Amino acid sequence: MSQTILGIPVTVDFRSTPCSWHEKPDKRCTVWANGKHIHPMKLWERDGDWLEGKNFDAWKVRDYFLASESDAEILNFLNKTGHFSKRLNVKGAWSYDSFRMWHTAFRGLLQRHPSGWGAWASKQFEHEPMIIKALQVYSQIPVDFRWTKTQHYAFFKATDTLGAILATIYIDKLRGAKHGFCARPDCRKDFEFISKHKRKYCSPSCAHLETVRRLRERQKSRKQEKRRV
Ligand SMILES: [Zn+2]
Repeated sequence: MSQTILGIPVTVDFRSTPCSWHEKPDKRCTVWANGKHIHPMKLWERDGDWLEGKNFDAWKVRDYFLASESDAEILNFLNKTGHFSKRLNVKGAWSYDSFRMWHTAFRGLLQRHPSGWGAWASKQFEHEPMIIKALQVYSQIPVDFRWTKTQHYAFFKATDTLGAILATIYIDKLRGAKHGFCARPDCRKDFEFISKHKRKYCSPSCAHLETVRRLRERQKSRKQEKRRV
């Protein structure tokens, strides 16, 4: 028998598992680049038992990850947040592009109803079994209940970044949140639709910047037209 449980606050309890990340060529494979065979550069995790995990706000970690586009930004993010996935058992197979692929995956999940995730992921990531596997592995989330005299809480527990970000997406979907992504090409930050109003940008500053850009473009093309006349 299913019960309807109302009004329980749910959040993510994310305690990271620290490690340091470094770049090293992957001697197990070669790729053809600039006219020769080379070992591709991969990212490797190195455990440090002297390091202690930190508690992070999982939603801030998600924002920070989605904003980390360049190789340097991704490496910086990883060195702050520790193990990306302990449950997928990936050893030294991380490339910068694989993290950018996770950007696409998280954005896709946020924009879709969970009932369509499986079909979408199988098509989009046909050649990336890691994503499909992650959706299966991380659909099982440890939950911790905490009680006070007046309220009780549920915590989705996460000990790696992938688990923490997926847990935020599950909670956003459970509460019926709708997400969009900023139309400013160099921002692309996610935002939540909190009213029925159409919205294209994540913030007034992005909307303003795009208006200024369009204005400048129009002024430039008018000047070019005048010169032609
Ligand atoms: Zn923006």
